[in-house]
Amino acid sequence: MAKTRFKRVLLKIGGESLLGNREYGIDPQAALNVANYIKQIYALNVEIAVVIGGGNVFRGMAGASNGIERATADYMGMIATVMNGLALQDALEKVNVPVRLQSALTMPAVAENFLRRKAIRHMEKGRVLILAAGTGVPYVTTDTGASLHALELRCDVLLKATKVNGVYEKDPVKYPDAKRYRNLNIKDAIENEHINVMDTAALAMSKENGMPIMVFELFEGDNLYKAALGEDIGTYISNDVKTELV
Ligand code: UDP
Repeated sequence: MAKTRFKRVLLKIGGESLLGNREYGIDPQAALNVANYIKQIYALNVEIAVVIGGGNVFRGMAGASNGIERATADYMGMIATVMNGLALQDALEKVNVPVRLQSALTMPAVAENFLRRKAIRHMEKGRVLILAAGTGVPYVTTDTGASLHALELRCDVLLKATKVNGVYEKDPVKYPDAKRYRNLNIKDAIENEHINVMDTAALAMSKENGMPIMVFELFEGDNLYKAALGEDIGTYISNDVKTELV
């Protein structure tokens, strides 16, 4: 078996990864695709916690801009992540990966309540752990939930899967000549207003507590597998590296 760089990872997946070709909601085939990527690193005996977003269903900010009170809209967004968590749990079971779903909002009929020690136990027993409802409180996003959970579950790295393969100096969709950062110092990521890879709260927490972050595109090649092996993909964000373009 290939030797992995990380023993325990926190994988942050945006809700949009479950969209497939839809504009809204969940495509079960897209969920299966995500499950198969996770299975690849599960097969390497990596312990995996997955924080799932809700952007394919509902984002609090969007609801607030349409007149719903922000906190209420954020709770709706968190509930969206529980739906996604159920879909991903179903997909992982279909590809024979043992899995448990925990939620930071209590919903005992569909998910275990988040309980740190039990969460760690699930991973030690070889179960993929899906964490829904982010932090359980409004005014933040699932990126902050990912940062917090990565720290409290003592993960070795936060793997942030996105639509773009890493962090670029400018928007690579608008500017095809945009260069990718191979390494990015977290301080630079926070201070550079052109870099919007995660919310500042999530980055600040990672900086203060020394949690490295890898940003890469989930649906490109075997990026997640390569990330687990420590290959040079996407962008590596840490206190310990100098900012460097590819
Ligand atoms: N949310 C929240 N607290 C949290 C995590 C999420 O209030 O700790 C809400 C927030 O409204 C957010 C929504 O849930 O917009 C869905 O999560 P997110 O936007 O992070 O999803 P993603 O962009 O990763 O799909």
